[in-house]
Amino acid sequence: MSLFTIKSNALTVERLLADFAALFFPEYCLGCSTGLVSGEQILCTKCLIDLPRTDYLWNEDNPIHRKFIGRLPLKHAVAFLKFRKTGIVQHLLHQMKYNNHPEVAVRLGELFGNEMKRAEKNQFDIIIPMPLHPSRQAKRGFNQSSKFAEGLSAAMDVPFDDHLVRRLTNTLSQTRKSKMQRWENVKEAFAVARKELVKNKRILLVDDIITTGASLEACGQQLIDAGCDELSIACIAEAQ
Ligand SMILES: [Zn+2]
Repeated sequence: MSLFTIKSNALTVERLLADFAALFFPEYCLGCSTGLVSGEQILCTKCLIDLPRTDYLWNEDNPIHRKFIGRLPLKHAVAFLKFRKTGIVQHLLHQMKYNNHPEVAVRLGELFGNEMKRAEKNQFDIIIPMPLHPSRQAKRGFNQSSKFAEGLSAAMDVPFDDHLVRRLTNTLSQTRKSKMQRWENVKEAFAVARKELVKNKRILLVDDIITTGASLEACGQQLIDAGCDELSIACIAEAQ
């Protein structure tokens, strides 16, 4: 084997390794596709600064908290971002769900977890993501709420558990149904698998996008019935 062959083999291996790493650590921003520089992860600094944040962490009397008045007793109710049909949040969630980039949700969880810590809203015993029906999860390969919970968990140093609550029914698209029909649909959709692990716990229930809050209400009610001590809600984004 000549020196040239060894050298070109080494180059091939190097390139293969770089390609392999790029599969898991894409080096372009998933918000705007510009190249990332050292220290940036998933999102570039400009996209990070431009994320359309809500101010709900600093305002207990916010639209999400008000949405649940008379429905669920909540300690905190917050959403990280504002979701519009065209905009960076829609783009990021699309990247996550349909282009197989679950790391977007983990990164958003880390960012929001750090902000929750700064706002001193990190007093939880456990983080529980809203479950997907197993067939839907199998199709997508991951649960985006679970990935968001994973990031929150790392930033706040609070454990998360995505086996405590199960989704029993696979409700189809609910967009054409009335509020009452949606509620009828989701009321019995969730079950707590291990009630003893929920009892007397301060729980943060986590979802991706909040619209009417019907699923969160149904799932949250199961956690309250199982005897949790406090219930809070955190979502990636609020539909505007
Ligand atoms: Zn960017």
